[in-house]
Order: sequence, then structure tokens, then C-alpha cells
Amino acid sequence: MQTVLTNAQIYGADGRVRRGHVTIDGDRIGDVITNRAGAGDEGPAPVKGATVVDMKAAFLFPGFVDTHIHLTSLALKSLRCDLAPARSAGELYDLLRAYARIEDGPNVVGVDWDESRWSDRTFPTRTELDAIDERRPVMARRICGHMGVVNSVLLSKISDHPGFVDAETGLLREHAIWEAGRLVDPGPERLAAGMEDAIRGLHKLGITAIHDIVEPTRLEGYLEGVSSSSAPLRIDILLHVDPDDIGPYREMCEAHDAAFLRLAGVKCFLDGSLGGRTAALSVPYGDEDTTGTLLIPGDRADHIARGTIEQGLVCAMHAIGDRAIDQALDIMEPFSGDSPLFRIEHCEMVREDHFPMLEKAPVVLALQPNFVRNWAFRGGLYESRIGRERLHRCNPFRSFAAAGFDVIFGSDGMPPGPLYGLKGATEHPVVSERLTPVQAVDRYTRIPNLVGPHRREAGIIEPGRLADLVVLGANPAEGAGEEAEVRAVYVGGERVYSADERPGAPGGAA
Ligand SMILES: [Zn+2]
Repeated sequence: MQTVLTNAQIYGADGRVRRGHVTIDGDRIGDVITNRAGAGDEGPAPVKGATVVDMKAAFLFPGFVDTHIHLTSLALKSLRCDLAPARSAGELYDLLRAYARIEDGPNVVGVDWDESRWSDRTFPTRTELDAIDERRPVMARRICGHMGVVNSVLLSKISDHPGFVDAETGLLREHAIWEAGRLVDPGPERLAAGMEDAIRGLHKLGITAIHDIVEPTRLEGYLEGVSSSSAPLRIDILLHVDPDDIGPYREMCEAHDAAFLRLAGVKCFLDGSLGGRTAALSVPYGDEDTTGTLLIPGDRADHIARGTIEQGLVCAMHAIGDRAIDQALDIMEPFSGDSPLFRIEHCEMVREDHFPMLEKAPVVLALQPNFVRNWAFRGGLYESRIGRERLHRCNPFRSFAAAGFDVIFGSDGMPPGPLYGLKGATEHPVVSERLTPVQAVDRYTRIPNLVGPHRREAGIIEPGRLADLVVLGANPAEGAGEEAEVRAVYVGGERVYSADERPGAPGGAA
């Protein structure tokens, strides 16, 4: 079965766009025929039975890869109260109270509040959550996932986490809030039921592949959801698990078609978040006398790294603060090689003296330009946490590119969407750290498909590669962001999304 996409503006591996057509044979790209600039395209002589789709000069790009996401959070979204619209703790309580009235499940769970957008940045409290429901567990988790507030019922079930639990206010951080999350988990059936919608939501954003951080307790429902979903997505799982315990989870993943789902690595958290003031810094925060927290002792972290690599998996280390990046560099010190054995997730507060060590390390940097767009502007959350001087050294995208580091982009789900995120790279507040639009696009498309454990035959529109494609209304390689509207998406040659099903519409049925 052949599909021909005619009259397309095709993005090439050199960053240029050329008019022409692409044939898709099965799950692969067949021919890519480009004309001289500006010329029309009649397409090839029609093959009998082929589907011909006139792209009407729409832009054809390799499908986007979100290299750091939490699909389970998206899948559970409809089961939880969305606290993102709240503009104060009072509004948060209102949302949660209204939700508690209609939610008859065993728990009341709200997610994604962000006090950095509030004029009064006072956190919610346990006693106020008790007033909403004192019978059922109530949790209100901050957008970063590293901090949240719980009511008294839920607090009484949390085990001892010295330094991470404030019993008075009900504020939990890191291990403690993760435990609360497990206690209010809706279970594998409800997770599985939400997966297909979550995947279709990603297609709409042009995403054809993800690197996903998954909790082992959720893996069963996750895999069930993926196999029962009719929406294909390429998934590399980074499991948040001790490598000593990975055996059974590995088997569960291996039961799936590796062209679509594979276990790529182990995720560990060296520190927390800037929003939660748990990212580990060498110099105290600007707005509180703390330097955050390293979450894993040195020898334990070495053990995780060694265990992961011995099993042929990539070790993905969450490190935001410069002190956590110091630790990541210590962990990687004994390792070398051409293919990356490690990833650093976020790597935001990198210092000049980290560069020579990063250059030697077999590492990929998995960064989130959308964080820059969300919080790293004048007067934003990051400036109040670490001050302008340190802020301006954060996320030095251009310096990373100049040093030749392998950098890939993802969203951490805040929000997902490469067309939103890439503006954080091209409009970085420090002009000298801005990437060109082509550099930004490549870190969402070509580069994630080339690096180490994540290598796939996608990411470039050329013969023989996987036909994972996105059709766009404008050209992000010339600076278009969200206005470049996603018109259609193909995964393995199958059209999985179309903005307009009308016959003859770009990306619509022929
Ligand atoms: Zn994350």
C-alpha cells in the first residue's frame, strides 16, 4: 500500500525546505523527490491503488520527539482536578472543593498548581484541605511534581521522611510527595483507560515518539493501556527503579513490539526542583537560606549507575542545581566511550567549569526549553529563586551547541508541545544563548533519533527511514511557533491525526 504526499515543502537534513513529493511504502519513506525552489509538484506517475494526498504547499517535517515526558500524568489528567488555572491559594481551594463535590472516588487529587503565577505566593495548607474533605485523602501537588500539600488523613499514612515532611502545614517534598502519590494512585485499570486519549493528545501536537519517565508501580496499567490503544506512538521508557530490581519489568516491556516500545534506561533523581527549592545549589537560594538537597548518597548513586550500565541501559540522572550536576559528573567520571551511557535530565544550572568534564563524559543532555519560556524571564520564578546573575547562566543552549554536546529537547509535560517549547530556545532571555530555529527543530527531530540508546531510523525525511512525519501550516525552521498549526501526523506510514478530514484538505483524505 503506497501513499504519495505531493506538493509538500519538505524539510531536509541540511535545515532547508524544498518543494516536492514523498512516497510512503508500508511504514517507510520510499522516494523523496524535490524540485527547484518555487516550482509546483505534480507528483510521480500514479501507482495503481496508491493514495495521493495534495499537501497544498504545507510543510512536511520529521515527527517530533518529546525526550522527557510523563505520559501517565497526561493519562490520569481527566481523573484529577486541574489546579493550573488557580491564581491564589483561595482559588485553588475553590477548584478542589467543587471537584470534591462531584468526585465520588476514594481520593481527592488536584495537580499542577504554580504559585509563581500568583500575586500572593502563599502555599495552600493542610488545615484548609481538611476543610474540603476530612474523611478522604486530599492531595494538591505542585506543577513540578517535587512538592505538594496533603490533608491530615493522607498525612497520617505517610512514613517517616526526615526533612521532607512539614507536619504542621502538610507540605511534602520529594520522596514524601511521591509516596503520597502512590497512596492515591487510581490503579492500573483507570490508568490504562486514559492512555489512548493521552497518546492522541500528543499526536495533535505533532509528537510521534517520546522518552517517558515511568514509575514501576504504574508499568502494568501503562503497558495495558499502550497495547489496547489503537494510536501508535514510539516509546522509550526510562524506569524510575533500582537496577537490581529491573528484571521483571524488563520482561514486561520485552513482550511489546520493540519498534514501538522498549526499555531504554533507568531514571534517578539527584536533586529536586527550583520551584520547590529542592534543586541542589552550591550557593544558597536568593529567596531562602537553603541550598536544596542531594537526594541520593554518593555510593548509592554509583551503584545505580554501574548496575544500569551493566545491563546495557542508559542511566538518566535528574540534575537541575549546579551541586547536583557536580554529583552527576562524579558519577560519570570512571566511564568513557563514544556512545552515550548517561543522560542528564534538565542540567539547568550548569557552570563554566562543568564544560570540560561534560565534554569528556559519555552523556546526552535532555533539556526543556519550555522551562525557559515558562519561568526564566525577568521577574519570573527563576529570577526570584536564584537571582538574575545566576539565571543568566542557566540553560546555555548556544554554548552547549558550540561545545558540540549531544542535546535533545523535551517538555517534562509543562506543557507538552515542541512548537511551544522551541521558542524557549530561539527566544532565550540571553541573546547570545539563543539557538537558530533550525538548531531548535533538530533537537526535537533529527538528533534524538541519532543518539545512543534512543537511535531509531526516523528523524530525517529520506528514503528508507521510518515514515514518522508531521504536516505543518508554517515553517518552524524559519521561526514559526504554535501558529504553525499541526495539520496531520503519520506514524509508521499510518495517518494517526488529521486536523481536517474534508477531502482534499492538506493532510486530509484524498
Ligand atoms: Zn520529569
